[in-house]
Amino acid sequence: MKENIEKLKEQIQLEISNITNLKQLMDFKVAYLGKKGKVAELIEQMKTIDNAHKKEAGMLLNEFKNYINDIFDNAKIKLEEEALTKQLSDEWIDITLPSTSINAGTTHPLTKVIDEIEELFVSMGYDVVEGPEIESDLYNFEKLNLAKDHPARDMQDSFYITSEMLLRTQTSPVQARTMDSNLEKGPIRIICPGKVYRKDDDDMTHSHQFTQIEGLLIDEGISIAHLKGTLEILVRKLFGNDREIRFRPSYFPFTEPSLEVDVSCFKCGGSGCQLCKQTGWIEILGSGMVHPNVLEACGYDPKKYSGFAFGMGPERIAMLKYGINDIRHFYTNNINFLDNFDRLESGDMNESK
Ligand SMILES: [Zn+2]
Repeated sequence: MKENIEKLKEQIQLEISNITNLKQLMDFKVAYLGKKGKVAELIEQMKTIDNAHKKEAGMLLNEFKNYINDIFDNAKIKLEEEALTKQLSDEWIDITLPSTSINAGTTHPLTKVIDEIEELFVSMGYDVVEGPEIESDLYNFEKLNLAKDHPARDMQDSFYITSEMLLRTQTSPVQARTMDSNLEKGPIRIICPGKVYRKDDDDMTHSHQFTQIEGLLIDEGISIAHLKGTLEILVRKLFGNDREIRFRPSYFPFTEPSLEVDVSCFKCGGSGCQLCKQTGWIEILGSGMVHPNVLEACGYDPKKYSGFAFGMGPERIAMLKYGINDIRHFYTNNINFLDNFDRLESGDMNESK
């Protein structure tokens, strides 16, 4: 028995050194400790041993079983560690590789201007109101004091869909709609941004589609002084705190009197430069006191109520603010152009002076 075990131990040492994976190790275990394994054979041999030596043989056998189990356990731990090390090295991820960059969009310069104006007027209690871009002749013209044969219609050559429907030429119909739908005929404070359409030939300063933003305030006892104060706040917000405005008489069918508004040049401060064509002033928007005919057409009593309206083109504001020389840049979706506005926050123009 003792000799057999010593031989087997030598054999085991040899076999275990050749084992390279868990399957071989399991086969090894079965070969020695399995039902028909080497240890089972030794147990079988016990029957032939006389009683005097049985106890000693039993102890040797037990010791041998423990010996095999230890060898097996150690080999198993070693193989598992090797497998883990291999897995760790195989599945290594290089976290220092640069990641795929994500292209974030930027706010369109026109949207920036509109947002800035909206924010200002909302802070003064105005509502932002939008209206349909396909508009009726009634709201686009007639309610705004432009009868069908009115010569001022020539100023706004339009895209007609039918003789009564057209792509709106201005955002003013939103004003008429708001006055109309205000059943109490009470005070109104609104700002109306949106796209408008005119049959213009596209060039550096004209586009068949552009944006407008208009404001309307109606209440009792509203005068030009209120209009002037409001517009001063607006131009100072857009072009800096030192800006002044001046009114020039003008003509719009829906306001009386009508006033063109200039802002003192934010580049030269009024001394004259190329931007202001040496005048010191830059034309910025149109405005006026709401025409009594418009108030009446929308159900307001012009003897009780008065109001002012103003409108401007976000394109012109953005071109002046950001020094853009061609209106078509706004519509061609050139990412290289639009990316430049990523760095500009509202008010940058003023701070850079
Ligand atoms: Zn100037």
